Amino acid sequence: MLLPPPFVPASSVFKGIGVGTAAVQGEAFVLGGLNVIRSNLPDDEAVTVEVERFLQAVDSTSAKFKAAKAILPRGIAGQDEEIFEIYLALLKEPFLQKHTISLIHQEKINAEAALLMTLDLIQEIMGSRVATPDPYIKRRGEDVAQLVHSLLKSLSGREEPPENFYPQGCVVVAKEMTPAEVVALPRDRVAGLVTENGGRTSHTALLAQALEIPAVMGVSSLVDKVTPGLRLILDAVEGHVILDPDYDAQAFYRTRELALATFHREIVRVAHIPSRTLDDRRVEIHANLELLEELPAVTSYGAEGIGLYRTEMVYLSRDCLPTEEELFESYRRVVTTIHPREVTIRTLDLGADKMPAAFGRQFEGQNQALGLRAIRFCLKYPDVFRAQLRAILRASATGNTRVMLPMISTLEEIDEVKSLLLDTRRELVAEGHRIAPALPVGIMVEVPAAVVMAREMAQKADFFSIGTNDLIQYSMALDRTNPEVKDLYQPLNPSILRMIKMVIDAGKEARIPVSICGGMAADPVAASLLIGLGADMLSMPYYNIPVIKRLVRMSFFEDIQKVTREALQTTSSRDAEALVREFLRDKLADAQF
Ligand code: PEP
Ligand code: MG
Repeated sequence: MLLPPPFVPASSVFKGIGVGTAAVQGEAFVLGGLNVIRSNLPDDEAVTVEVERFLQAVDSTSAKFKAAKAILPRGIAGQDEEIFEIYLALLKEPFLQKHTISLIHQEKINAEAALLMTLDLIQEIMGSRVATPDPYIKRRGEDVAQLVHSLLKSLSGREEPPENFYPQGCVVVAKEMTPAEVVALPRDRVAGLVTENGGRTSHTALLAQALEIPAVMGVSSLVDKVTPGLRLILDAVEGHVILDPDYDAQAFYRTRELALATFHREIVRVAHIPSRTLDDRRVEIHANLELLEELPAVTSYGAEGIGLYRTEMVYLSRDCLPTEEELFESYRRVVTTIHPREVTIRTLDLGADKMPAAFGRQFEGQNQALGLRAIRFCLKYPDVFRAQLRAILRASATGNTRVMLPMISTLEEIDEVKSLLLDTRRELVAEGHRIAPALPVGIMVEVPAAVVMAREMAQKADFFSIGTNDLIQYSMALDRTNPEVKDLYQPLNPSILRMIKMVIDAGKEARIPVSICGGMAADPVAASLLIGLGADMLSMPYYNIPVIKRLVRMSFFEDIQKVTREALQTTSSRDAEALVREFLRDKLADAQF
């Protein structure tokens, strides 16, 4: 089970976003792009015909989505049929249809050109709402673009190539692919997928992952360089595409393909084994959850619970706020799916780069990371907060739930939320709702003030979860979204390690569990130190779980503690990292980290 490092030839390697756990090679099968030409309509009669043609395209696209939804393979339906529901809902969106039709009338132009103008406008509206586009908003923008792409295809009358057109074992190369097109790919013929558009969390990526098609997305200017039949290598782990590889590269990748496949198969096969060190120290490994689509993978990758459910995403995709009923439905779904394992629902962390459109404009120009973010936002807008608390309390009756408050910086904030929770509980009971008798209320420790006050905070909180992403941002005085200062983002900086130690020690003293849910938990080097410092639980994106669980199972806690003590004595992030890498060298020689 030896995993070789990625092969990086000096030239001809294109970089994109890797989606999957495999490397494959095959002949390119290029799916052409669509060239839209604007043409003017001669008279009113032509306008009427054009509107009719547009409405027919809407109908046939809708039928195509319904068919794609119906043929989703077993085990995938349920999670991903939602994707098609989103597309079907967008198709019915009055603005999309009305605006396109009115452009055909007013400008007297063809439906394709009118559709593209509507898309530009929608994207402009979505883009202008937030200073830094949030991944969720970006994804919704991609949804609209992919929907328009499907409509354009329908308008062009172009059919998908029949299944037997795809050469056996080919790698599909396209400017962009809609989820429906991904579902329609003949799985027995297609080895991989490369697209110019799309991001890691786009629905196309999520579907490719769910269907286990290795993919590299967001590879710019690739399609024009690929001729059909050209040999190419796709490394979904590294996000690399190599065109026309030479003999050495092909030979290298044949070994890597096998090694990755064996490694992944083995690691996922044993991912369900509880994570205990060789000397029986239990370290729970949970998943971070942002999208309901991730739920099935969370379970199959061996998560022992959900340690961080980021609930703000649903607020970012719309102009109005979600209703209590909608929130309750999604929380209930997560809690019942994961039951009897535990779900830690984090209350809204809105603000900074996650400001909903409904509130965005009034905070423009302010430094939002230091402003009304997270718990501050919720306490300022109690009605928004109350709807969420009601939904969480109601969902708590359906399974094992905890509630977690982000960005706590004072003790009073905890008191205030607890009193709101008490009022809300009374209100719900009076209305006849069922609620779990005891709902643990914990806090995220991610502001240096909370670290210093950790002992006092531990008297009021049922658990701690350290948000290392923000703890590093606020302690090192660097904007975590600013690439200019990325070198200062040092998880292993002694100041950060010592702060984490203070929080874990305070938690232990008060006998409350302490977990880590920031990015540090997913990195084997940092995770070793977190375990050595005494963390009870680590929470991370689901795809990192197998490697971290394996790290726990292959180690002696005593050894990890020893290397952690040494790392705490270092005075630089580099020295601490070198120490831990040395310690892990033989343990994880076959894993990539
Ligand atoms: C963190 O800050 O480490 C964290 C987990 O929260 P978020 O990344 O959502 O701010
Ligand atoms: Mg945070």
